[in-house]
Amino acid sequence: MALSEFEIIKQYFTRSTKQPGCELGVGDDCALLTVEPGMQMAVTIDTLVENVHFFTDVDAQALGYKSLAVSLSDLSAMGAEPRYATLALTLPEVNALWLQGFSDGFFELADQYHLDLIGGDITRGPLSITIQAHGVVPDGQALLRSGAGIGDLIYVTGVIGDAGLALKSCRGDVQCCDPLMLNRLHKPEPRVEAGLVLRNLASACVDISDGLAADLSHVLQASKVGAVVNADELPLSEAVQSYQQRNSQPDFALTAGEDYELCFTVPEKNVKQLEISSRNWSYPCTCIGRIDNSGQLSFLKNGQRIEITGNSYQHFS
Ligand code: ADP
Ligand code: MG
Repeated sequence: MALSEFEIIKQYFTRSTKQPGCELGVGDDCALLTVEPGMQMAVTIDTLVENVHFFTDVDAQALGYKSLAVSLSDLSAMGAEPRYATLALTLPEVNALWLQGFSDGFFELADQYHLDLIGGDITRGPLSITIQAHGVVPDGQALLRSGAGIGDLIYVTGVIGDAGLALKSCRGDVQCCDPLMLNRLHKPEPRVEAGLVLRNLASACVDISDGLAADLSHVLQASKVGAVVNADELPLSEAVQSYQQRNSQPDFALTAGEDYELCFTVPEKNVKQLEISSRNWSYPCTCIGRIDNSGQLSFLKNGQRIEITGNSYQHFS
C-alpha cells in the first residue's frame, strides 16, 4: 500500500534538528525559530518544475541535491550562512525509491552545512519542488546587487559554461561530455564559503543562474553603472573553449546559465585581501573586468567588442 502523506514526512523528511535557534521543527503547524540579535535573516525561494528545470529521467538523488543547491547559491550571493529550509513537494505518485534518493541527495548537501529541514508540504500533482532557504548575515553586511562602484574589479568563482554544455549534451545537441561535466549541471556546488568571505570584501554580488551576461547586467542596473568584461579572461574549461570555437559562438559561456557560480565586484583597496583569502577556495577566482560609468555592459575579445547574440533563459518570453 502506498504511504500516506504523514508517513512520507515521517520516513523521509523528519530528522533531529541541529541549529540551536530551532525551537520547533517538523510536526506542528509552524516551525519556531529564534533569530539571533545583531543578525538579519536572508530568505529565498525557488521552484523546480519537471520538464522546465529538469528532465523526467534525472537521478532523484542529484535532483534532491540540486534543489537545495540553487537556494544555497542565492544565500551565498547575499553573504548569508545557511541555517534552515522548508520543502514543498508535489508528486504524481508515491515512489519509495524516488523519495529515498531525493531525500538522500537533499540531506547530503543539508548536512554539509548543518542546515535543518524545518517544515514543508506534500501535495499530489505534476512533479514540482519548491524550496525556501533561510540564512543569517550580520546586520548591514549582506551583499547587495546595488553596491558596485566605478573602478571596482569584477570577479567570478569557478568556471562557467560547463553546465550549459552538459545541458546541450543531455538534449542530444552535442556528443556526451565526461561525467565531471554532467556533475556541474546535476550537482552544482553552492559557493557558500566564498559568500562568507566576500561579506567584508565585495561591493556587490549575484549568483549566476541565467548566464553571466544577464546576471551581471542585474548588478549594473541595480548599481546604476556600466562595465567592460574581457572575454579572453573568462575561466573556461577546454571543452567549452573548443565548443565555442567549433561553433563560432564566442558568447556561449556568457549566456548558457545554470553555472551557480558567484559574480562579484571588489573595490581596488580590497583586491590584495581577496587574492589572499581566495587561495583557500577549492575553485578558481578570476578577475574578468571592471566597472565603469558607460552605463552599458561591453565584452571585448582580442581587444575588439563582441556582441552577445545568445539569449539567457526567460520563462515568459
Ligand atoms: P499543515 O496541514 O498544518 O500545513 P501538514 O499536515 O501539511 O501541516 O504537515 C505536517 C508537518 O509536516 C508540518 O510541520 C509540515 O511543515 C511538515 N511537512 C510537510 N511536508 C513536509 C516536507 N516535504 N518536508 C518537511 N516537512 C514537511
Ligand atoms: Mg499542509
